[in-house]
Amino acid sequence: MDLGLKGHWALVCAASKGLGRGCAEALVGEGVNVVITARGEADLLVTADALRALNPDVEVRAVAGDIATPEGRAAAVAACPRIDILINNAGGPPPGDFRDWGREQWIAALDANMLAPIELIKATVDAMASRGFGRIVNITSGAVKAPIDVLGLSNGARSGLTGFVAGLARQPRLAGANVTINNLLPGAFDTDRLKKTLAAGAAKAGQSVDEVAARRRSTIPAQRFGTAAEFGAICAMLCSAQAGYLTGQNILLDGGNYPGTF
Ligand code: NAD
Repeated sequence: MDLGLKGHWALVCAASKGLGRGCAEALVGEGVNVVITARGEADLLVTADALRALNPDVEVRAVAGDIATPEGRAAAVAACPRIDILINNAGGPPPGDFRDWGREQWIAALDANMLAPIELIKATVDAMASRGFGRIVNITSGAVKAPIDVLGLSNGARSGLTGFVAGLARQPRLAGANVTINNLLPGAFDTDRLKKTLAAGAAKAGQSVDEVAARRRSTIPAQRFGTAAEFGAICAMLCSAQAGYLTGQNILLDGGNYPGTF
């Protein structure tokens, strides 16, 4: 199916690796011009070249910077001629015990995983509405639906974003102007972040990473981790011309891991 996205411009945040990169690859494959961001310039430039090789017909721009800061966001937005598609993403907060977290840790989590996406939505959504097309996808986490104790910073910050988006997406001036806002909730995906989590778990349990990974996989109905390409494909589908009636939703991508019916 042609997703009807050729020629659009997308800002894909935190996209040098992992899920953000998967989204950028899928959009570039659909003929979307992209601006990608990440903090580390070296990895980002390698990814930009790989995206250009994937589809020489699109324009790929790379902007190094921290999307959780006003300067990082301003540079990213300035690099886009216009933003038809916004993929909000940033690294997740560290695990831990809430007794050890003070205001500084909470503000860092809120900046990266709640306020940065809200600021970028604010910077883009009204222009999308005036053009009659806009797609915003926020990469959140399965932990929004099934909170994970040690990820309290993530549970809290992402739930704040989720509540905000639930109201905003339903504004008739946005939904009625073909602007959709949805959240994609990853379960376990085979990215650097998951590898680090598995390595930390293995060190704690005194087991090999392979043992810990096998145990984790066995708890997922799909019996495997997801891939960034699968994640990107669903993201591109949410951005498609055909998905204009799909808004304000939280879509789990977790190989069946969440045990509830709804
Ligand atoms: P990853 O570590 O593989 O990649 C993260 C990317 O984000 C990198 O390109 C990095 O440079 C960039 N980045 C991080 N912080 C940034 C910032 N402040 N500004 C700009 N760029 C930044 O991670 P991933 O697995 O792709 O995870 C993406 C998001 O999804 C994270 O928020 C993560 O917590 C969440 N998530 C991932 C999983 C999973 O299994 N992989 C599960 C649930 C939630």
